[in-house]
Amino acid sequence: MTGRSPIIRGLIKLLALTTVVYCLPPQRSHLTEAQLSTLFDSYPPFPALDPNYYSTAKADGNLSAQSASDKIDESNDQVVALLTPLLIPRAPGSHNATIVRDFITGHFNGLSNWTAVIDGFTTSVPEYGGVKGALDFTNLIFRLTPPGSDDVPSRYLTLVAHYDSKLSPVGFIGATDSAVPCAIMMYLAESLTPHILKRWESDLGAIADDTGIQIIFMDGEEALVEWSDQDSLYGARHLAELWESEKKVSQFGRLSTLHDIDLFVLLDLLGAASPAVPCFFEITSWACRDLAETERRIRNAGLAKTNQQKPFIRADNVMTNVFIDDDHRPFLRRGIPVMHVIPIPFPKVWHTLNDDGAHLSSEAVHDWAVFITGWVAGYLGLGDFL
Ligand SMILES: [Zn+2]
Repeated sequence: MTGRSPIIRGLIKLLALTTVVYCLPPQRSHLTEAQLSTLFDSYPPFPALDPNYYSTAKADGNLSAQSASDKIDESNDQVVALLTPLLIPRAPGSHNATIVRDFITGHFNGLSNWTAVIDGFTTSVPEYGGVKGALDFTNLIFRLTPPGSDDVPSRYLTLVAHYDSKLSPVGFIGATDSAVPCAIMMYLAESLTPHILKRWESDLGAIADDTGIQIIFMDGEEALVEWSDQDSLYGARHLAELWESEKKVSQFGRLSTLHDIDLFVLLDLLGAASPAVPCFFEITSWACRDLAETERRIRNAGLAKTNQQKPFIRADNVMTNVFIDDDHRPFLRRGIPVMHVIPIPFPKVWHTLNDDGAHLSSEAVHDWAVFITGWVAGYLGLGDFL
């Protein structure tokens, strides 16, 4: 018991709280150029994301045994290619789709503290090839959840790309569509995990109402026969419906798993040279501007490999009159904020056999990896934890 009046005690408490709030490392801030240099010095995206880099992971046919625990070192002997194992046809229900899922799962199993949710389901599809009426699909979801959030719903920055490839033309690989985005998500998870955990293990991080990170590898984005509302977005439509039905009561009322999504960031058609990505939604144009600012800082710091007059992200171009149908639609129509990172025009190789490793721009793949990873690091407030 102190002799202080309730008013004084209240003021002291308010001061203490204010101090804590102002001392917290900021989330949703930008990394400085120096911090971005430190981040990519310790974990360069190449050669892991180099489309020409071939590792033993593919050669020995044992993809799942190779994991991200093999760290990149100076000699590159231990580098595990993240992109090349994905550059195979991987249509829903195929053997290759299983191989790719095992590779992705093995990667996340090698990272500390990530949890996996496997959303497997069977649904009706149009008849094609030997398939009659129904097909199995599998979405993969990986989460890194902030500590101490058992009684508070976790919020996740949510990155999404589809891992399936189109059935036709036969042999279609879909390097930009969307092997590169998948590999970038694997890279950013691996490179940022130690820094995210460092933030959460610090006292300040534990006090903060931190945002976690959730990465979704969606199945069945492509049409099996011809694009329509029924023949496309199989994985996304299923997952959005499932999460909408998963209700939970919290201090904020009755919410669904869908509301755990802080921001839904959909990556698609990345990896070709000279992309131009506008902002599509007014409500998330702040995120688009943040990503553009990260790109500007990375270019200023000399960390980008492309050297083009105009940036990848055209934040001054908010194209609210254009809607590109993609995995975000089932989430968007349920009120989830979306940032769609997709170039306009689409890459020239779109939906052709030329959408393969040989037609990727290695420099553009590298730069997308550092732009997106640097932006995520800022979003999660990692600047002081590198
Ligand atoms: Zn496609």
